[in-house]
Amino acid sequence: MQPDQMIYLDNNATAPVRPEVVRVMTEALLSPGNASSIHGPGRTARAMIESARREISNLVGARPAEIIFTCGGTEANNLALRGTAASGVLISAIEHESVLRFAASPDAIIPVLPSGVIDLAALEDMLKRRSAPVLVSVMLANNETGIVQPVAEAARIAHAHGALLHCDAVQAVGKIPVDCGALGADLLSLSAHKFGGPQGAGALIVRNGLDLAPQMMGGGQEGGRRAGTENVAAITGFALAAGIAAEALSGLASRSAILRDRLEAAVQAIAPDAIIFGQDQIRLPNTSCFALPGVAASTQVMSLDLAGVAVSAGAACSSGKVTRSAVLSAMRVDEALAGCAIRVSLGWASTADDIEGFLPAWEMIARRRHLRRAG
Ligand code: PLP
Repeated sequence: MQPDQMIYLDNNATAPVRPEVVRVMTEALLSPGNASSIHGPGRTARAMIESARREISNLVGARPAEIIFTCGGTEANNLALRGTAASGVLISAIEHESVLRFAASPDAIIPVLPSGVIDLAALEDMLKRRSAPVLVSVMLANNETGIVQPVAEAARIAHAHGALLHCDAVQAVGKIPVDCGALGADLLSLSAHKFGGPQGAGALIVRNGLDLAPQMMGGGQEGGRRAGTENVAAITGFALAAGIAAEALSGLASRSAILRDRLEAAVQAIAPDAIIFGQDQIRLPNTSCFALPGVAASTQVMSLDLAGVAVSAGAACSSGKVTRSAVLSAMRVDEALAGCAIRVSLGWASTADDIEGFLPAWEMIARRRHLRRAG
């Protein structure tokens, strides 16, 4: 089946690029300027980048000068975690791999409660035991469950102990309102391809006045904090997606929540023993993570794929193969159950028909399980 004939319900892995974004990127690709050149085409490229900086800063309540363009969320996270002068990092157990890898030892990992929310009391205890300043990294919304984390409270606790707070907001931006100031984040990561922009474009917001050691050496781009010729087309597409996301935010959130609720009600009607993770928590409106006990996630994902429906099992962008979900195990979900969990994630292009297409395909899987059990 051609990708464009599939029902695409894996927007947390990547969302389709908006057609308007493709158009501006194509135009930008056709104009030759290097933003560091002082001639006309160079100045045009520079103007495009600075206008993008303003647009993106609006989406997350930052100042344009606080934005460093990167090649995506992974680079933004790496830059935040490597670039600050903290003596160590404390990282929540449910972070994306691009953050989690920086945990030097198990005692650098902030536990999460079975609800899927980080344990703020544990964070406070961990900070009390550290004498030198550290960087605390807590994501805004989890990529697998969609559960929104108490970042503002974590920032308040971190600051009270002289620590900095980094927030990976990659999954939240474009889905729920994100405001760096209200969150109290010193550093915040975002990525364009999660909300209709191109892959390979992202940004790190660095609070005004905070020192950050560059990780890429070369030219003086991005105020000397990230060397390398700027990807003008990708940045332009990123900015347009950010502008559209800001305008579409509340409509998209309520539409997604309606579709997600319809999906979850039907899933529970089809299989009353299905477990939906984080259903009673504050969640992203677009994300549903649920387990069908007795049917491996890989079997569900492959059967759905054959039926023309794309979903994922756990964090798809980490490997391409199905591994145990670190997020669900951090929530102390039984291992066998966690192995049966899939993630359905909606996006700007998702429709009620997508949900109505998903349901019969998933019902077949649930029915086969029933027959297997009966036989
Ligand atoms: N952080 C989170 C929470 C993510 O879900 C992802 C990707 O799925 C990333 C970071 C990495 O972003 P990128 O794909 O832009 O490198």
